[in-house]
Amino acid sequence: MKLAKRMSRLGTETAFEVLARAQQLERQGRDIVHLEIGEPDFSSPASAIEAGIAGLRSGLTKYTTTPGLLELRTRIAEIEGPRRGLQLSPEQVVVTPGAKPIMFYTILGTVEEGDEALYPDPGFPIYESMIAFAGGKPVPYPLREANGFRLDLDFIADHLTPRTRLVILNSPSNPTGGVEDRESLGRLAELLRPASAWVLSDEIYSHFIYEGSHVSIASFDAMAARTVILDGFSKTYSMTGWRLGFGLMPLELVPHVTRLIVNSVSCTPAFTQKASLAALETRAHTIPPMIDEYRRRREIIVDGLNAIGGVRCVKPAGSFYAFPNVSAFGRSSKEIADHLLDPGGVACLAGTAFGHEGEGYLRLSFATAMEKIREGLSRISSALARL
Ligand code: PLP
Repeated sequence: MKLAKRMSRLGTETAFEVLARAQQLERQGRDIVHLEIGEPDFSSPASAIEAGIAGLRSGLTKYTTTPGLLELRTRIAEIEGPRRGLQLSPEQVVVTPGAKPIMFYTILGTVEEGDEALYPDPGFPIYESMIAFAGGKPVPYPLREANGFRLDLDFIADHLTPRTRLVILNSPSNPTGGVEDRESLGRLAELLRPASAWVLSDEIYSHFIYEGSHVSIASFDAMAARTVILDGFSKTYSMTGWRLGFGLMPLELVPHVTRLIVNSVSCTPAFTQKASLAALETRAHTIPPMIDEYRRRREIIVDGLNAIGGVRCVKPAGSFYAFPNVSAFGRSSKEIADHLLDPGGVACLAGTAFGHEGEGYLRLSFATAMEKIREGLSRISSALARL
């Protein structure tokens, strides 16, 4: 039977494929250290678990309002706006099941046939996949190690055209850990002001910054009116499986995103929204210890990688990923990642899972326990020595 042509333009996220292969090896009795998936190993906040259960018991088991509970949208506006120097109304907050739908809806809602959309390479693979699916032309902009994996503003200036409809930013970055500073975002805002492009600013790792502080492009003059900020509970609150995300966006986009929700998932479960409200209220107790722990793990993983002959790893300023350069081995990233998984016993991702510019790199998540990281480093060291 024939499939729609657009399906050939839809990509995927390799992390889930590598996870499946690693689990297959585990079923055969192999012991695998998982450094592939960007999933915090902390438990979800106890407050969220209690509120979720209480919500279910009190009958929050039905459909609910499409853009999210007003109570939650209000708290998100109050907390997430000022963190970024923005004043938001609850109506500018749209809650979705996970943050990914915000990416999906923003791209579907703004990019059409023939439009160009700039996105980071290496970058989260769903950006390119969704731009192409929507019929747009994906235009990658490189994030290079020599530049601290930060924006190359000259490149962006050269590639902004009258057809550029969307510019995607992701700071702190998955997979590089790079963080954009105020100066370069300010210069980018100047470049974008005369263009007629929307901005999708993926700020899902905004709490996980180890040097400097988070700056949102939306805080620059006139940028809030064209920027959709993507954020959510998966990483910040270690709630990946609950599927809770949100977008902070200009009012004019809200009815359109709401229609996309009605046409796809209808709404986000009310009991999980109650759980996220509770998570917000206990954030002062749950977020700082996670950041401290990631900071410790970052030291161990970066030092451990740099101690391996042929590996060079820049210290990530944010997120929870190390992105070591392994080009000295003269093999493709994919070959190295495959070798590390089997026979090496460590699951990690090839840099090319994030775009062409990722060749020569691996992505290792340090959102996993310290002892696993140490064991993973020791296995990587011996597997690379046998390459
Ligand atoms: N954006 C980036 C950069 C991510 O790394 C991820 C998850 O890995 C997401 C968005 C999606 O988040 P969620 O799991 O809440 O859909």
